[in-house]
Amino acid sequence: MGLVKPVQDPKEEARALVDGETDRGLPTAYDFHLICYEYLSGLSHKKREKALLNGTMYHDCMAAIRNPKDTTLRTPQFRYWARKTFRVTPYHKDMILTTIDGKPVAARERILGVLKHCHLASQHGGRDKTSAEVRKFYAWIPKEIVAKYVQKCPTCQSKRTLSSASLGPMSDSQRFLVA
Ligand SMILES: [Zn+2]
Repeated sequence: MGLVKPVQDPKEEARALVDGETDRGLPTAYDFHLICYEYLSGLSHKKREKALLNGTMYHDCMAAIRNPKDTTLRTPQFRYWARKTFRVTPYHKDMILTTIDGKPVAARERILGVLKHCHLASQHGGRDKTSAEVRKFYAWIPKEIVAKYVQKCPTCQSKRTLSSASLGPMSDSQRFLVA
């Protein structure tokens, strides 16, 4: 089991290449994993679960709204919070979770893709530009996550290094940051 490598669908292969191409010069999935970990560790236990919605939370929020009479789902507090915070809204042929003002909620699994798209759309813009782009499409992507993503971006980092190098010799602390 798992020993025979399946024949790669050429279309899939091409897509993987394209994805790899767009990933170049951007934070990796591993970077993103660390960013989330760092962000969540800074929050209280109570806030942590609601700060980024994983697939299960996303699904349970939808369920709390769609089946208001189901009292078996998690806790009354959770159901109350989900109903007061979100809506279930038709989108194309699907139903999705949105905020009350109708903005799609990004489940944790989607955030990295959104960040990539928005950071490129803002042409490696800083935290505020990238954040503004993110907010055009999605809710529930914390600003801190956007800020850390931009900070970790290798393309932006090398731009910062170049501009600080052109200002004169690096101080010891700068040298430490660049190393
Ligand atoms: Zn960048």
